[in-house]
Amino acid sequence: MAFTLYNTMGRELQPLEPVNPGKIGFYGCGPTVYNYAHIGNLRAYVLHDILVRSLRRSGFEVNHVMNITDVGHLSGDNDEGDDKMLKSAGERGKSVLELADFYTKAFFADTERMNITRPSLVCRATEHIDDMIALIQRIEAAGFTYSAGGNLYFDISKFPSYGDLARLRMEDLKAGARTGVDENKRNHADFVLWFTRSKFENQALIWDSPWGRGYPGWHIECSAMSIKYLGEQFDIHAGGIDHIPIHHTNEIAQSEAATGKHPWVKYWIHNEFLVLDKGKMSKSSGSFLTLQSLVDRGYDPLDYRYFLLGGHYRSQLQFSWESLEGAKNARRSLTERVLSLANLEKSTGQKTKCSAERAGGILPSPKDLSEPVKERTDRFNTALEEDLSTPRALAELWGLLRDNSAPVSEVLCAVFDMDRVLGLKLEEGIAEKKGGTGEDEALAAEIEGLIAERAAAKKAKDFARADSIRTRLRERGILLEDSPSGTSWRRES
Ligand code: AMP
Ligand code: ZN
Repeated sequence: MAFTLYNTMGRELQPLEPVNPGKIGFYGCGPTVYNYAHIGNLRAYVLHDILVRSLRRSGFEVNHVMNITDVGHLSGDNDEGDDKMLKSAGERGKSVLELADFYTKAFFADTERMNITRPSLVCRATEHIDDMIALIQRIEAAGFTYSAGGNLYFDISKFPSYGDLARLRMEDLKAGARTGVDENKRNHADFVLWFTRSKFENQALIWDSPWGRGYPGWHIECSAMSIKYLGEQFDIHAGGIDHIPIHHTNEIAQSEAATGKHPWVKYWIHNEFLVLDKGKMSKSSGSFLTLQSLVDRGYDPLDYRYFLLGGHYRSQLQFSWESLEGAKNARRSLTERVLSLANLEKSTGQKTKCSAERAGGILPSPKDLSEPVKERTDRFNTALEEDLSTPRALAELWGLLRDNSAPVSEVLCAVFDMDRVLGLKLEEGIAEKKGGTGEDEALAAEIEGLIAERAAAKKAKDFARADSIRTRLRERGILLEDSPSGTSWRRES
């Protein structure tokens, strides 16, 4: 079946037809490194990860590029407010580059803890100033710019399709609706390509340019770096929904004005926001939850990953400690269930084609799979190929784990294979539990012991004893599952 994605441009599900068959060029807007990522930001990067993993699973070769914004991002996306990097560096008594280094490392430490795959290429804005200048020169040569008050602006009225992505009306964006913030702008939605003289007299990082010594506007970095690494037309561009009306709208205008090619990007993917009970989470307000704040309250970063996978990326997701607790418990049950099946497989000494090939993490060809496993795997793949439905994919995973008609080694094999996309580290999780000595491990060992005792009781035809073991476990919320392969267990959900 075809891979389909919801394209914000056009507002519909569309089959994915890459510019170059079989290959995907993907650019995801990266973090502005003036503070720790908050857990809302991490939602965006989990989406990028799921997208990349799903595409690769479906056989595409993916080149994933992500930028690091270390210059030019003002607190308002439309050139208003303070310079985020400058302000934060001042507050912390660090240089802008020290600050950027520190928070870039912190960002990747967080993404690693959440098992988010590193992009194929990460590029820093400050290392691509020449590329930005060259692109601005092309935009200028094509007649889309004007200089005013020492800055170089993009004139949106010269670009008739400006605002298509966000479905904005040109009449509303043009002159007459001045914000009053920047008197130099001809149309209120015009934006700065290059700042020379501006309100930031003491800007820390400045470069020479044909328009004078200064620094780039925020939007140009994404156009310049994505074109440099992915070409003048590429497949997928992603970011949070807040980027639709300004940042991505401006990126399109700049890129297409410079190259004259349309469309610059074929598919625009946007994640909805993670919100707190109290409302929006914002990095610039300073009060937000980081991954570390979840860890400090006893949660594993993968609990948060599980929580995020439970919602579709196009739906707003409300964060609460109760729902994170729910995700933590569900992930624990998942790992326990897998561990129980792994122990069962070991005890039966089953050796199938599937077990033999598991080391490589590759599912054997469908002809070697039994019907229920094949069916679940197909449905799992379809869920992801239909606009990355992680909630449906998770449901298929659980369905498979509860299906006692399937050979246990195949189930395990398929589950580990599914986890190559979900990224819940199930194999490592059960390895830890096997060797562990904590409360959960002690419980697992106790249950395995009781299962063995029950099997022995049954063999000796002591059915009363066998039944009482089952009942006692049930009273503790543990369900025993008998199957042709033997007995496994799971928590009652
Ligand atoms: P920033 O570091 O502020 O440039 O944002 C990094 C990414 O996080 C961007 O793709 C934003 O659109 C996204 N983002 C910001 N806030 C949230 C949120 N509360 N929920 C989901 N994504 C967000
Ligand atoms: Zn961007």
